[in-house]
Amino acid sequence: MPEGDTVWLTAHRLHDALAGRDLLRADLRVPQLATTDLAGRRVLEVVARGKHLLTRLDGGATLHSHLRMEGSWHLYAPGERWRGGPAHEIRAVLETDHRTAVGYRLPVLALLPTAEEAEVVGHLGPDLLGPDWDAAKALARLTAEPGREIAEALLDQRTMAGLGNVYVVELCFLRGVTPWTPVGEVRAPEKVVALAKRLLEANKARPGHITTGDTRRGRTHWVYDRANRPCLRCGTTIRTARHGAADRSRVAYWCPSCQLGPSRHGD
Ligand SMILES: [Zn+2]
Repeated sequence: MPEGDTVWLTAHRLHDALAGRDLLRADLRVPQLATTDLAGRRVLEVVARGKHLLTRLDGGATLHSHLRMEGSWHLYAPGERWRGGPAHEIRAVLETDHRTAVGYRLPVLALLPTAEEAEVVGHLGPDLLGPDWDAAKALARLTAEPGREIAEALLDQRTMAGLGNVYVVELCFLRGVTPWTPVGEVRAPEKVVALAKRLLEANKARPGHITTGDTRRGRTHWVYDRANRPCLRCGTTIRTARHGAADRSRVAYWCPSCQLGPSRHGD
């Protein structure tokens, strides 16, 4: 699952390439949109809302896409070879005279009136990288259910929008709690919110989701993707198990010395 900073960067690049330009061709390869013709429409802006991408067109239409696990948007200059995957994985082509945006493996692609965007993003909590960021509201939502596991609450986009599993397990490490710690037992939850904001802001203009401040290979994360390797802080072996509801569980990584709280047996 891309993190919110990845989606923000994608939106930023799409905006730079397409905004203010007319679509010469728009090829939407999903059955519901196969006959939709957007040629001649101008791209007004491309914005991220949490992990959702909203491409706003003149005439009051918004093309909504979501990357989920596998999707991505690529930009190409006229005549440049497309390299994002086989042609049958292409879901959208937005061509202007300047750049062509190609959406690969997009699990969500829909066209809706701009005035009705709330239908698809209205449930989201305050957007960590959005103009509506509201730390107090995010904290209120995070602490609303004290018995909820911290990792589950942070992954829930209704708490705040933009965190994926990389940041969630890293935030747990940085605050010294295991992913299964009930929110009500996390000390200074406002610091979790502030740190989430700081990490996404620090990473939004670069790939990599660096949480250690160290860009060297193998040193970018404290615990994420470091199963059975020594903790960068204390040397204890990093453990791994699942966290979250069974139908949408994620891999948790944690240091049993640096992080206090309930744990699970690994797989
Ligand atoms: Zn440790």
